Amino acid sequence: MQVQTVTGPIGLDQLGRTLMHEHLFIAFSGAEFDPTAVFDRPAFVAEAVKRLKQLREEHGVKSFLDPCPIELGRDAALMKEIAEKSEMQVICTTGFYFEEMGLPIYWRARTEQEIADLYISEITHGIGKTGVKAGAIKVATGKPITALDKKFLAAACIASKATGTPIITHTQDGHGAPEQQELFAAGGVEAHKCLIGHCCGNADPAYHRKVVDGGSYIGFDRIGLLRFQPDEVRADNLVKLVRSGHRAQIMMSQDRHCGWLGKFARQLSPQEQAHIDAQRAAGNWPPPYTYMFTDFFPMLKERGLTQHDIDSILLDNPRRYFAGEPLPLPNQA
Ligand SMILES: [Zn+2]
Repeated sequence: MQVQTVTGPIGLDQLGRTLMHEHLFIAFSGAEFDPTAVFDRPAFVAEAVKRLKQLREEHGVKSFLDPCPIELGRDAALMKEIAEKSEMQVICTTGFYFEEMGLPIYWRARTEQEIADLYISEITHGIGKTGVKAGAIKVATGKPITALDKKFLAAACIASKATGTPIITHTQDGHGAPEQQELFAAGGVEAHKCLIGHCCGNADPAYHRKVVDGGSYIGFDRIGLLRFQPDEVRADNLVKLVRSGHRAQIMMSQDRHCGWLGKFARQLSPQEQAHIDAQRAAGNWPPPYTYMFTDFFPMLKERGLTQHDIDSILLDNPRRYFAGEPLPLPNQA
């Protein structure tokens, strides 16, 4: 049993501490036409390598899953170069984003099987001519979940079943996780093969309970993204899940990036822009990948979690997810 990284397959025991949802580089489709959007590739690589080395050396992170959708500037050769230079084990995904913010016209017109064939090819043969193989399948849905979103999700189910590859998702505005679980079940994919992402965007513990009771992994994967949820709420809800015996299903990550082409895919308020400009001037933009370790874990410990709980979430859960093993019984977790 192996995990496919951008520099080749590794054994499950080599995975180590893993961040399950972070990005290196993001470019929304169309940004490449913006004359104000500059991208200095060597400078970006140097910065990314520095940040990944810091994660590895200061916090013992060995693996980093970048679930960049195909059409959001996913660049397998760039990921490979950064992985080689930083010695971080980077895993990339196949799969598109969702209708409201992605889905190229060409692929909208394809059948579920044609889309699945692309995903299967990127998993088994590699992405384009790079030789880099995808290690997971990205699925994204909007609010509400559209018919097109469902078609791409169904294609991911076909590819997952054909290759045994696990699925990682984006949900929008803390909405749609139980619906995704129902669609995966209908598509014949077992719940424990799915990490339902961005569930921390919903403040209601009942929503989280529904996801874990459905048997999937639950993403508390926007830690530090305060625009979507205060971290106090994330910490309270995460601790509730551990206390109710669901530690084995939690994945913690931050959905950060260290490079973004051009402007954001929405208009920023003047206050938001001023904040970013100030952070950039101080050398703190984009914010670092280490935040979870320096700022969020102390919040978990204040609420009674132990280092053992945190280590188990960062180490055991990613390993079990990639292994495709069933969840442990609650009293064995
Ligand atoms: Zn993301």
